[in-house]
Amino acid sequence: MKTVITVQELRQARSSLPNPLGLVPTMGYLHAGHLSLVERARKECASVAVSIFVNPTQFGPNEDLAAYPRDVDRDLSLLEQAGTDLVWLPTPEIMYPPGFQTWVEVEHLTRPLEGAMRPGHFRGVATVVAKLFNAVQPQKAYFGQKDAQQAAVIRRMALDLNFPLQVVVCPIVREPDGLAMSSRNTYLDERQRQAAPVLHRALLAAQAAFQAGERQADKLRQVMLETLQSEPLARPQYVSCADPETLQEIEGQAPPGALLSMAVYIGKTRLIDNAFLGL
Ligand code: AMP
Repeated sequence: MKTVITVQELRQARSSLPNPLGLVPTMGYLHAGHLSLVERARKECASVAVSIFVNPTQFGPNEDLAAYPRDVDRDLSLLEQAGTDLVWLPTPEIMYPPGFQTWVEVEHLTRPLEGAMRPGHFRGVATVVAKLFNAVQPQKAYFGQKDAQQAAVIRRMALDLNFPLQVVVCPIVREPDGLAMSSRNTYLDERQRQAAPVLHRALLAAQAAFQAGERQADKLRQVMLETLQSEPLARPQYVSCADPETLQEIEGQAPPGALLSMAVYIGKTRLIDNAFLGL
């Protein structure tokens, strides 16, 4: 496994790796969710590159950029074991050199849900992912369904900007109690950690209501909200039942495949989760 920092080092190392190359973009502090993307890339590609970069431009001014957990040594050993060929660890100065002023904006898809709660977030995400794609030139890029809106935004961007690659979206990896794995789970204390699976339970409650014949999107949102409100430590920011393509809220009947999603504070930690209705 080769580790590189500058764009020049990256280009040189990349040029000797066989195609198709699969890229897994991450912010590090890796867990089994990230490693599932590496595993999938390993199966489908001749070589695998992983980027680790805590991207400052996707964090709002009051978000957790400074506190975001980091452990590069541990990440590198996990990636080596997982059969990674190349790891790119750019610095913020390499990604955003002095004078940087070019941004990628995906318009409509970034407005609702996470985009509404985190202004500028997807501008940072789309820009850094476009830069990763240009620098690494992968044939396939792997993202997690955990960040459902991010996956939709990147798919759209790749199409709109003619990136010659396939975006692959992989299923959410969960802890045994249903909590979706996330680097941010490390912020939770013991009581908060016990409360956190309520997000998954809320998704399951909406799924159960749908199985029992409930079709009204409003009712499904209400079922999720009531489940979340049953947990005193949980403070829901939004619950959604949306069109999986446009991400617009569904009014009236929700079809199978609609995207259920939510953001919930447990203490100061903001957690997100989602599922496709009926799947
Ligand atoms: P992050 O390091 O949080 O930016 O995540 C890097 C990639 O891993 C993103 O495409 C995430 O959607 C994906 N990911 C994060 N958590 C999970 C999970 N629990 N299951 C599957 N993919 C995940």
